[in-house]
Amino acid sequence: MVNLKEIVRKGLWDIKAYSTARNEFSGEAYYFMDANENPFNGEYSRYPDPYQKELRVEYANIKGVSNAQVFSCHGSDEAIDLLIRLFCEPRKDNIITIPPTYGMYDVSANINLVHIIQAPLKSDFSIDKEAILSKISNETKIIFLCSPNNPTGNCIPKKIVEELASQFRGIIVVDEAYIDFSGNKSCVELLKTYKNIIVLQTLSKAWGLAGIRIGFAIGHPKLIALLDKIKPPYNIGSADAKIALKALRNKSKYEHEVKSIIQERERLIQELATIDSVKEVFPSEANFILVRFKDASSTFELLKKNGIVVRDRSSVKGCDNCLRISIGQKEENNELLNVIRKL
Ligand SMILES: *Cc1c(COP(=O)(O)O)cnc(C)c1O
Repeated sequence: MVNLKEIVRKGLWDIKAYSTARNEFSGEAYYFMDANENPFNGEYSRYPDPYQKELRVEYANIKGVSNAQVFSCHGSDEAIDLLIRLFCEPRKDNIITIPPTYGMYDVSANINLVHIIQAPLKSDFSIDKEAILSKISNETKIIFLCSPNNPTGNCIPKKIVEELASQFRGIIVVDEAYIDFSGNKSCVELLKTYKNIIVLQTLSKAWGLAGIRIGFAIGHPKLIALLDKIKPPYNIGSADAKIALKALRNKSKYEHEVKSIIQERERLIQELATIDSVKEVFPSEANFILVRFKDASSTFELLKKNGIVVRDRSSVKGCDNCLRISIGQKEENNELLNVIRKL
């Protein structure tokens, strides 16, 4: 069993968090003269709740976990950075990533002067468990898994996540930014058994709120408490929390949109497969598809000329001639198909 105290960066286990005016006072007050705010009460004149309790409770209920298992943050990108800082000693420790995958793991590791060890996916984009296990050293603190994976669109089998979690004496991060679009169940259900798994989710994709920057990490209460100690005190603003709560309480809008995105994804996959300039359409459990073209750069340019921007992934190892296309509304997808058919 993983001992968190042993793997956390030296000095951080007992670190004292910044104590805000708002968490030092509990009780009933009518005059808030503790936080140097402007006394002319406007809707946003007060500092927000440092722990966003209401938001965490709402998300915990939706996910069927306890409140103490939920960490809220400024987009899941913030959790990626905080986790690296919590566990990795600069210039000494390392993380393992599975390229081609989400770019922020590398960016955050680089900013924090943490080494990156790569265990690339196989050519069919399936995970190479043996490669990962062979690259683990005493300095390896985190393995970043992304499921469904960006940009390949496939999920990592839960059995492999479990095998890694039980054989690794560090933290397994499962980034589930796209889980809402997948037929597979979330790895949140593994948290009961494995203390060293932490699941990242976000309101940026399925919930349609990329602009407000809210993400969540779900894991063992001890791990969540550590993240709470090292996070910036007010990492989520009141206006954003308010918008998030409203969205989370309107599940039918979310469900309707996810369903229609999945429908459009399947239609787009079918249609693209019939087009001459398309070499291969990879299956997807996300709200994007990775497509290999005969000539990605001319396809990209043609789309651009027609005002359609997609993500060129052709320089990424294993993704030569591939474009990543986010699923749009029906009319947008039709427009994209029309342009590609002209090639
Ligand atoms: C989009 C994306 C995120 C970003 O999440 P934010 O909550 O917007 O910071 C995280 N992980 C993956 C894999 C993504 O594709």
